[in-house]
Amino acid sequence: TDEFKMVLGALELYDKTVATAMTRYEDMFMLPDTLNLSADMVQQILDMGYTRIPVFENKGPGGNPKKLNINKHIFGPDEEVKNVVALLFVKDLALLDPADQQNVMKIANVYNHEVRRVLEDMPLRTMLEEFKRGEYHMALVERLVEQEDKDPVYELCGLITLEDIIEEIIQCE
Ligand code: ATP
Ligand code: ATP
Repeated sequence: TDEFKMVLGALELYDKTVATAMTRYEDMFMLPDTLNLSADMVQQILDMGYTRIPVFENKGPGGNPKKLNINKHIFGPDEEVKNVVALLFVKDLALLDPADQQNVMKIANVYNHEVRRVLEDMPLRTMLEEFKRGEYHMALVERLVEQEDKDPVYELCGLITLEDIIEEIIQCE
């Protein structure tokens, strides 16, 4: 029955990690800090349907967005855009005058939402407890990458929300 599946799903939270439930990096919708928002851009962002959007540091030449990937995302993340520096909430865009072509990072700085980060091997049960405390609803997922002769670094590998954990509970195979 469905109840039985849900109990199993809940039990499996003990074995699963954040990495199994997260939205992977490749599928993350993010915006470059350098972007200035036209009315059209704002509409495209709204159409994506996400409430919280990571903002990445764009190190493209001349400070311009490095790569346009209109098909999948407005700006698709590529290998070098793993440095998330802020979060933009869609509701932050409500008071904008589209004619101002406001800069994404400037808006993000006004609201200054905290960027929360967790490691990919955190148990899902722990993540669920964190979300239940209610201080935040989305976390960036990172992995520790060992480097030869250097200090290990954290690398962005996805993001996770409460909804992803609920999916794990109700979709138990
Ligand atoms: P809310 O439902 O709180 O308004 P939302 O619809 O933006 O927010 P969630 O419902 O928390 O997001 O999550 C729905 C799914 O979307 C989850 O799988 C989550 O990982 C994913 N998700 C959330 N934000 C993003 C984003 N910026 N890019 C890609 N996937 C995202
Ligand atoms: P985060 O906690 O990550 O900052 P959030 O979307 O939960 O994101 P808010 O949008 O400030 O943060 O929402 C806080 C609470 O207020 C949530 O429980 C939300 O459902 C509720 N809320 C938000 N907007 C309204 C509204 N217009 N009317 C009633 N309740 C609302």
